[in-house]
Amino acid sequence: MGKKIIIIGAGISGLTAGIYARLAGFDAEIYEAHRQAGGNCTGWTRGQYHIDGCIEWVTGSRENSSLHDIWTTTGALTDNTEVYLPEEIVSTIHEGNLYHLHAQIDRMQETFMQLSPEDAPVIKKLIKYIRQKQHIKVPVKKPFDRPDLWELAKLGFHMLKAGMPDRKTSRLSVGEFIAQFKSPVIRRLLSCTIHPDMPSYALFFSLGTRTSGDGGWVQGGSQAFAGRIRQRFEALGGILHLNSEVNEIIIKNGVATGIKRAGDPAEIPADYILPAIDAHTLLYRLLGGRYKSAYFEKRFNHPDKYIISAVTHIALGVHADLSGYPHHLCIEPPQPFVLNGTNITQLNVKTYNHDPAFTTGGRSLITVLLRDTHFDYWKALKERSDEAYRREKERLGAWVIRHLSTVFPPLEDRLEMIDIATPLTFHRYCHTYKGAYMSFLPGARVRQEFHCGRIKGIKNLYLAGQWVAPTGGLPMAAATGKFAVQRICRKERIS
Ligand SMILES: Cc1cc2nc3c(=O)[nH]c(=O)nc-3n(C[C@H](O)[C@H](O)[C@H](O)COP(=O)(O)OP(=O)(O)OC[C@H]3O[C@@H](n4cnc5c(N)ncnc54)[C@H](O)[C@@H]3O)c2cc1C
Repeated sequence: MGKKIIIIGAGISGLTAGIYARLAGFDAEIYEAHRQAGGNCTGWTRGQYHIDGCIEWVTGSRENSSLHDIWTTTGALTDNTEVYLPEEIVSTIHEGNLYHLHAQIDRMQETFMQLSPEDAPVIKKLIKYIRQKQHIKVPVKKPFDRPDLWELAKLGFHMLKAGMPDRKTSRLSVGEFIAQFKSPVIRRLLSCTIHPDMPSYALFFSLGTRTSGDGGWVQGGSQAFAGRIRQRFEALGGILHLNSEVNEIIIKNGVATGIKRAGDPAEIPADYILPAIDAHTLLYRLLGGRYKSAYFEKRFNHPDKYIISAVTHIALGVHADLSGYPHHLCIEPPQPFVLNGTNITQLNVKTYNHDPAFTTGGRSLITVLLRDTHFDYWKALKERSDEAYRREKERLGAWVIRHLSTVFPPLEDRLEMIDIATPLTFHRYCHTYKGAYMSFLPGARVRQEFHCGRIKGIKNLYLAGQWVAPTGGLPMAAATGKFAVQRICRKERIS
């Protein structure tokens, strides 16, 4: 019998860790609080509609990208998985005209130049910096703090050859960089691709990925994506316990020796414990606040610098064919929605007609994502009364429908379904801190650092998940699952 690893959490990270653990010969059992696997990578069905709750784009979907290997090893991408690469990354309507951010970089440059010749210097900068990032291979063969030297050398050489953004640009946030454009259309198209408080390089990197043919939309959606990884884990002999919330990690003489489940005093022993959950739950609940982590404390105590980003997700089911509409539309309604004292000014709207997995029979699914950092507000409303929480959701839903109906007229009389998931909903089902959908998003002038995956003073505990590799996202979740197992292999001298 091999040594046993208990993995906490069956999100993409935990499932990936489970697969690499089995491939390395360990017994692997995952304990998951929810009734299904996948964590944030999820979807849910409402009547005739399957609502996708996650994937907009996946880095590593392109075959020769560095992350592709993880997705094929985990079974997330197979030879039969279709990847959809829309020609337009995002579109918007301005003064009655439709404009696009093209995924083909020459077209992007051409349309921006036509749209706003007075922006030529900053357009040239943008295009140059995106091109620099197009072929960067994230070094994921080994943990980030012990990288493969050959991969690292190749990355260094590539960066030297491609060049770097100038000093001034490097210090700007995405929002500050975008503010340099005079054209309101360009500003809007760029602003809905990424959080405005992140450093400008994040904009160049994400557009570099998307314009290089990576970052596609995986057909079948998020639940199917996670389902294939779960299947692979179970096919390799891994054991998945659903509805099994872990309440405590048992530490004896500085060694993690097992877990306890909520409502069950029995200890479940293991040789290694691999939490793939959010760092707050881990430190303050499962470890009872007894172990310090300067890395995480700094982040949890400075949410202004390390943004914990969540979303409110609105799904609309319409009995009409919307296949002629752009797949991702960014809309700025004339009147903002005031949520907890802050203005929501932008609607990121997606349609799913390219994929029959979401609905059929002449129907269409629309989803709207709103950046929402008001977890405490939603929580307080819910605690006041279900009615107060429901009423606020209804007020939000009515605002969205009112403004979307001007763009999607069938919404007026053919709306069949509306479903609103707030950060509180994500917290309830995915058990993440403040309903966060990614981990810490670094502010513009904050150094990007990864966590080493260990907690000082505890042996045989190896961390995985998006919280150890900010900004998070599916590729980081998966990579850290693999890294945690590689660290265990190193300890066990398994090559
Ligand atoms: C609306 C939305 C859109 C997104 N779009 C994209 C995108 O386009 N591209 C991209 O790359 N990423 C995207 N993401 C982010 C991506 O989903 C996450 O980064 C990723 O799924 C995180 O995976 P994880 O395994 O690290 O953590 P999680 O998904 O948080 O998984 C943790 C798991 O642990 C379980 N758990 C927690 N506590 C316990 C406990 N005490 N006991 C047992 N189990 C526990 C949870 O139930 C959960 O299943 C999106 C997310 C959302 C919500």
